[in-house]
Amino acid sequence: MKKQHLRGCKETESPPNITIKGILGLLMESVDHSDDKQVISLGMGDPTVHSCFSATVAAQEAVVEALRSAKFNGYSPTVGLPQTRKAIADYLSNDLPYELSADEVYITAGCTQAIEVALSVLARPGCNILLPRPGFPIYGLCAEFRNIEVRYFDLLPDNGWEVDLHAVEELADHNTMAMVIINPGNPCGNVYTYQHLEKIAATAKRLAIVVIADEVYGHLAFGPNPFVPMGTFGSIAPVLTLGSLSKRWLVPGWRVGWLATTTTVGTLKNAKFVERLKKNCDICGGPATFIQAAVTGIIQGTQDMFFKKNIRLLKQTSDLCYQKTTAISCFSCPSKPQGSMVFMVKLNSSMLKDISDDLDFCFKLAKEESVIILPGSAVGLQNWLRIMFAAEPSSLEEALERVKSFCDRHAR
Ligand SMILES: *Cc1c(COP(=O)(O)O)cnc(C)c1O
Repeated sequence: MKKQHLRGCKETESPPNITIKGILGLLMESVDHSDDKQVISLGMGDPTVHSCFSATVAAQEAVVEALRSAKFNGYSPTVGLPQTRKAIADYLSNDLPYELSADEVYITAGCTQAIEVALSVLARPGCNILLPRPGFPIYGLCAEFRNIEVRYFDLLPDNGWEVDLHAVEELADHNTMAMVIINPGNPCGNVYTYQHLEKIAATAKRLAIVVIADEVYGHLAFGPNPFVPMGTFGSIAPVLTLGSLSKRWLVPGWRVGWLATTTTVGTLKNAKFVERLKKNCDICGGPATFIQAAVTGIIQGTQDMFFKKNIRLLKQTSDLCYQKTTAISCFSCPSKPQGSMVFMVKLNSSMLKDISDDLDFCFKLAKEESVIILPGSAVGLQNWLRIMFAAEPSSLEEALERVKSFCDRHAR
């Protein structure tokens, strides 16, 4: 019944109205527990289930200290504690050609709430938003609840998943309010060049739209392209930067995120817009005060070694994943992952005798091998798979061995 619902959805142009968590839940239910295979999930982007990806002690101590001080048991301002806004402003300014001030940063409950605030604050009657395909389904879901029409532009697999800027120009009209860029990319594992980001900004300027830059994977880049924040081009187009501690600091459960007006052009600076932003924050609330109070300590107390170690590990696990998947004949991968914790692999189901598509592949794989992989349909791309590589190397190896024997068994 539920599976049928998914099937019905994939006939449409846009991603199905089910969240990643929803699909992964269904996949988990199809695991056959009668064999003794341990379940390995390469589905959800939560690296903390693997012990090699754990938060630093310094971060934990900052939280404990903030809590013990008993100074942060009350409400914080809904836009965030002043010292937290300042800490994030300083952190982001390190990589920007201009200085961000504390009052240009709004503290949210994870990047998820920053998405909600960004879309709510920009929404107008009859407006539309341009979203990447493949993409991150929360954007589509949130837009739907805000009555924002969604239009998808393609990311081009053979061009390092760059934005099809022609499509963006074609899709936009006078009701378009924003386009979303996720860099480093989920689900594609891409890291955009300076030049491509500059072109995106120039396009947004021409179309008079805001760039919503989802940089939740900021600095998690381990390939040839360095991470360049979209705010670098904040003098060309209005940019809203979204981020969080979740991925880089490996604390997704702490729910600290932000939205920053990383731009020097007027639109996002005018008093009316700032007022709308504040009102939206009043509705949302934001993260717990003592967690906010710890942010300065978390950022200042985290050693460079922690980031370097994680980048090294992500490079290692992504290389391993890329090698193992490209060695499977019904898979192909147009570009090696360069960033984030996930990447996309193309499935050639015509090489398999009894697998109809990506959903069928993932459900049968879960049942027969106890390996969970996200079907591409969940992120808007049929007959692709999204694989999460932020996992223990030994688990990754084991999981991909099982995927290989599954493909061998079902080969034509
Ligand atoms: C994980 C993720 C988010 C949500 O981040 P949280 O801080 O956990 O709310 C937003 N956007 C993308 C692209 C993500 O991968």
